[in-house]
Amino acid sequence: MREKYPPETISLADTYDYIMRKEDIDKIFGYSVKMCWGWDEQKISPPLGYGNGLMVWPYRSSIHFMQDQCLRTDKKSVPNLGKLFDEYHHNITSKLLWWKDLVAPRAKLRARMWEGFEIYVGLNKKLRKMPNHTDGMILIGDAAGLESTELCDGVPAAWYSAEIAAQVAIEAIKANDVSKAFLKKYDDKVKAHSIIQWSIKGRNRYNLRIAQQEHDIKKLKKYIHQGWGLGSLTHFTTPFMKLLLAYVKEDPTIITKWIKMYFRYYQNWLHESYDYVKKKVIKVTASKRVRKKERKFLSTLRFIDLIMKSMLRIRRVLKIIIIPLSNSLNTLMRKSLPIIEPINSAIIKLLNPISNKLSNKMIKFVDKANPSIFYVY
Ligand SMILES: Cc1cc2nc3c(=O)[nH]c(=O)nc-3n(C[C@H](O)[C@H](O)[C@H](O)COP(=O)(O)OP(=O)(O)OC[C@H]3O[C@@H](n4cnc5c(N)ncnc54)[C@H](O)[C@@H]3O)c2cc1C
Repeated sequence: MREKYPPETISLADTYDYIMRKEDIDKIFGYSVKMCWGWDEQKISPPLGYGNGLMVWPYRSSIHFMQDQCLRTDKKSVPNLGKLFDEYHHNITSKLLWWKDLVAPRAKLRARMWEGFEIYVGLNKKLRKMPNHTDGMILIGDAAGLESTELCDGVPAAWYSAEIAAQVAIEAIKANDVSKAFLKKYDDKVKAHSIIQWSIKGRNRYNLRIAQQEHDIKKLKKYIHQGWGLGSLTHFTTPFMKLLLAYVKEDPTIITKWIKMYFRYYQNWLHESYDYVKKKVIKVTASKRVRKKERKFLSTLRFIDLIMKSMLRIRRVLKIIIIPLSNSLNTLMRKSLPIIEPINSAIIKLLNPISNKLSNKMIKFVDKANPSIFYVY
């Protein structure tokens, strides 16, 4: 049904799993996101734009170090990844001071793993046009080439496409027609999905290779800012708002459902109480203070629902103001970002002492709250 991907669109991930005390992880990685970059010749990570580069994720009492690189860097050159990955890993763990001094003495290697995945498939017209359905079959997620070129996160597109596939499959079974012609609906919906399309066509990560080749620090900063910084708002805001509006139109209480779902996942994570293992029962405290906070939380959600429902009732507002506004939000962001950015930095600095306290309060609340208030019915 589909051709094999060329090697320059397949990345090999080399993952190290280190054990580290949670207290050390919180001290070194907590409350921060570190962005490092290096020129290719420094060989501290895979070359820019040819894969992801390098990521370090903390998780409970372990950290995961992942580097990945495409199997071919251009039409001719096939890198020796076995040798290169060892070299990158050695360089980052021995030459980068924060790793050498802070992480290395506290981390113990538990496992090393390998995994291949697609990348930049969405940028190639021919690959993008490969079929994602045929008689009696629908392909979703990675199998349909939906890995995000911009962010390299394939999970959201796998979920979105699975949701669409399920809807179309149900319709097809009801209509007793699972022909390719009927299932084309799936392809139409994937092509009309604003977030999927934005994420498979974004070029900033890919363009990093141009900045590298030209040794152009200005371009490097531009692509990073557009891909991962506030600059992404200049091409992400419109597709995001379009998707959000589509969900809200169908169910105005969706936002509070998402909030509850988020809190529920977070509470489960805190208590290690997951649905797929024998679920731990979270003890409910008798504290009156906690009950009061729960009531406050629920009434805030009810207030949000009320606003969303009344906004939907005024459909004209949606038609005349919000939908056209969402179409031009990217342009608006392009124009207003030079003003917004310094204000945003100032506000973050100003709120820093308060936001730390707030997030600590929130964690305490989620820890003690009655799990039933986060259920979505
Ligand atoms: C190292 C690494 C890090 C990543 N990090 C992130 C991240 O941080 N965030 C993010 O959003 N995405 C990330 N991704 C991408 C993400 O994992 C994928 O995009 C996503 O899992 C795709 O989901 P899927 O359901 O389409 O495919 P998969 O999750 O690959 O599921 C396909 C399943 O089919 C099974 N299968 C294959 N062949 C057969 C067969 N013949 N019979 C039965 N079963 C079969 C496989 O075993 C697998 O379980 C990462 C990927 C890698 C490799």
